[in-house]
Amino acid sequence: MRAYGDRSLRTLGLKYEIMERYSGGPPCCVKCGQHDLHILELDHIKDNGGEERRRFTNGQGGTTFYYYLRCNGYPDGYQVLCRKCHIEKTLTKRKVNLMYMAAPVEYDLENPISNAQPQSLWNEVA
Ligand SMILES: [Zn+2]
Repeated sequence: MRAYGDRSLRTLGLKYEIMERYSGGPPCCVKCGQHDLHILELDHIKDNGGEERRRFTNGQGGTTFYYYLRCNGYPDGYQVLCRKCHIEKTLTKRKVNLMYMAAPVEYDLENPISNAQPQSLWNEVA
């Protein structure tokens, strides 16, 4: 059992409350069912976390953002994911962005370009 000070206990309590609210019951990851509060995270469904933090909490995340949600009646647009599923979702989104940036290339395997050079097909977008 980890030891918590008063402050981090309050923070953890707030996190539990937020996660419970967005889980619609005991906090758990919507993808895999993981329920360890320490690795549960709030996912901005539309992937606009940075923008919302700038707009609503002066760029602050974590506890400040949890307070914002509570004070605003738990607005829609969030879901609970564990760290692993959150990372997977972020990577999938990046991969989609990468695919959109890829230039169309036509391959003619019968007549390869004689002076072909390796080219960068991927341009990562922010
Ligand atoms: Zn998960």
